[in-house]
Amino acid sequence: MQRIIDAHTHLSERRDDALDHFARKNGLSYTLDELLGIMRRHKIVRGLLLSPPLLGGGPLPNDDVIRLCTRSDGMLAPVVTVEPTAKEVNTAVKLAEENRKEVKAFKVRLGYVKASAESPVFNTLYDYAESERLPVLFHTGDTAFSTGDLARSHPLTLDGLANRREELRIILCHFGNPWFEDVAELIHKHPNVYADISGLITGGAYAEEYAEWLARKISEAIYFAASADKVIFGTDYPVTKHSETLALVRSLEVDDSDKEKIFHLNAERVFRL
Ligand SMILES: [Zn+2]
Repeated sequence: MQRIIDAHTHLSERRDDALDHFARKNGLSYTLDELLGIMRRHKIVRGLLLSPPLLGGGPLPNDDVIRLCTRSDGMLAPVVTVEPTAKEVNTAVKLAEENRKEVKAFKVRLGYVKASAESPVFNTLYDYAESERLPVLFHTGDTAFSTGDLARSHPLTLDGLANRREELRIILCHFGNPWFEDVAELIHKHPNVYADISGLITGGAYAEEYAEWLARKISEAIYFAASADKVIFGTDYPVTKHSETLALVRSLEVDDSDKEKIFHLNAERVFRL
């Protein structure tokens, strides 16, 4: 049986969680107990936990993410979300320092915040992330709300940052959906740029055709990059059902050894799990 790591999950156990409608749509209760149960059922040995957005627009406080991870019996590790103000950047770096053993990465919510990846406000964060070899996840592509800012969440906005900071480990969430080819170029061009496949399956009309289209796009990105070394498995729970994202990887037209990389080897290397 394959070992699996889910590099992108959300949870709050709060009523004002803005991802709640995805949970309801997927028939999920969206609780820690449920998540850990699903992970065990699918042999997902480890998960990275990210703040979900709250109804007010802000993310769940990082302290709450760390608390949920503490309750997870070592199955979940925190990713610290960083908002674009000097104060928030400093607080996030301090929190990561205080929880050095637990924190595995940072996250920047491109498209949801009024800043781009190259905004100078993030310089302290990037310096710290580089020195500690902690990856920074960036939301890229389609936004969950119609008010999102696509000009700032487009994956090509990360090219400049990757050029300036070759040592920074950059992870593009959601494979830049729908800009898969742009992401293929970025993971091919930059030694330290990766992409996760979380949150891509959202149902609706033509769900089956769309799932096939996704599998083709991701397989083709792997052909273009001539490697699956930069592709990382994630669900974006509760946005997608685990079974559907697992099926997406299994349906890729790549070698089994590459699926192994996507399921766990790449995440273990990049996040040092
Ligand atoms: Zn997410």
